[in-house]
Amino acid sequence: MLTKLFIDGRFVDALAGGTIDVYNPHDGSVITSIAAAESADVDLAVAAATRAFPAWSRMAAAERGRLLLKLADKIEQYGDELAHLESLDTGHPIRDSRGLDVPRTAACFRYFGGMADKLQGSVIPVETGFLNYVQRAPIGVVGQIVPWNFPLMFTSWKMGPALAAGNTVVLKPSELTPLSTLRIAELMAEVGFPPGVVNIVPGYGHTAGQRLAEHPGVGKIAFTGSTATGRRIVEASQGNLKRVQLELGGKGANIVFDDADLDAAVNGAAWAIFHNQGQACIAGSRLVLHERVADAFLERFSALAASIRLGDPLDPETEMGPLTSAQHRDRVLSYVAVAQEQGARILAGGKAPDAATLAQGYYVQPTIVEAKPEDRVAQEEVFGPFVTVLRFGTDEEALAIANGTAYGLGSGLWTRDLSRAHKLASGIHAGMCWINCYKRVNPGSPFGGVGQSGYGREMGFEAMHDYTEARSVWVNVDAKVPPHFKR
Ligand code: NAD
Repeated sequence: MLTKLFIDGRFVDALAGGTIDVYNPHDGSVITSIAAAESADVDLAVAAATRAFPAWSRMAAAERGRLLLKLADKIEQYGDELAHLESLDTGHPIRDSRGLDVPRTAACFRYFGGMADKLQGSVIPVETGFLNYVQRAPIGVVGQIVPWNFPLMFTSWKMGPALAAGNTVVLKPSELTPLSTLRIAELMAEVGFPPGVVNIVPGYGHTAGQRLAEHPGVGKIAFTGSTATGRRIVEASQGNLKRVQLELGGKGANIVFDDADLDAAVNGAAWAIFHNQGQACIAGSRLVLHERVADAFLERFSALAASIRLGDPLDPETEMGPLTSAQHRDRVLSYVAVAQEQGARILAGGKAPDAATLAQGYYVQPTIVEAKPEDRVAQEEVFGPFVTVLRFGTDEEALAIANGTAYGLGSGLWTRDLSRAHKLASGIHAGMCWINCYKRVNPGSPFGGVGQSGYGREMGFEAMHDYTEARSVWVNVDAKVPPHFKR
């Protein structure tokens, strides 16, 4: 298991020698200890990325793409090992790590591998006699900070477009879940990424993360994490006015209308909130139900939630694993009391499971709470298997509830009425809307939020553009420019 920092193509200890224990969320045991990067280590990583930048950015785009394509193949080759590491470290059920995380990670690197030589500039029709062309130039060294909920996948979302566009990277994984990212770094070295092009600096946010966000040698900081940390990133970035991309929290409204296919909606709503134990920024954590179907829906939804198999993430039969850390489990459970204090009704779950085999792990039962739109559990991101049910009567009420939080990331609606579907999809203030499905992602489709959910987009051409600067070049081909100062 890899436990050191990856700087300039080599695995090295942290300069100050500090380490961080990494826990198995299934039983609370220590898996290993990793080197803890601090400011000085981040400085070394940025220096390595700065040295690597000129050659990497001048390399033929197709060559950069070829390395990313080779990496995608390697990820598939070592898919079982990566899935095992991810499940051990994060608590993702192994069926999801194998069936979703690994294939999506490979697909993302492959997409941006193919994209590397498709990113084109443009020629602008300006005044006669001049040629004006626009190049998409890489930014330079980019800093990337990722959270613990999808470490493997987010490594590809962040690094794929940045590298394809010709930037070099210093990436800080979460101190809680660095293991799969370090293995990706090793695979990158194996397929031939030059030293310094990618550097991985696991460490705490307030030390390593803070330094990366404020570093004067970093041209852009791309951050995925909580809205509170996002604000700190913006402050830290101000010294050199670096570009900032923020993928922050969410409180996704998943609206079920009275004409919906209820079986599909019940299944979709369960997937929307219980996949990865609800630890997803796009989770459908507000279930907004039409009053005519709410009771019938909740009966089926509660039965499905109660039947979800909680267990050891490494067991292929497990459908829901533990939360990723003990601290986070406690935070999620604290929202049960918050709900009760405000008069919300706990319809299911609300505690750790009873099974003795799960007692040492960070497990929480699928939890369903009925509340009012203004309650804290309907406004704040819980980030667990905790769904807040809200009822509505008219389309206008549904829209008002959907748009009634500070966030705007994922959203969903279930209806057979095409005109209502499109009308609401454009009315919901969110970066993504799924109609009769939920949580679909694809490397070609832009991903990101509005409002307190952040700005900038991952994936697709949008992401490539976000990792480049537009450089405008003017050429006087045969224009006769009269002198401005006649002498
Ligand atoms: P977090 O903000 O606590 O940490 C995220 C990362 O930032 C970690 O690597 C952490 O070490 C680092 N960090 C912490 N303090 C820092 C600082 N002062 N300076 C620089 N870096 C710092 O978030 P989390 O608890 O790890 O992740 C959960 C949050 O992430 C949720 O709010 C969730 O919605 C959000 N998230 C958003 C998206 C999205 O795409 N919008 C995706 C996944 C998760």
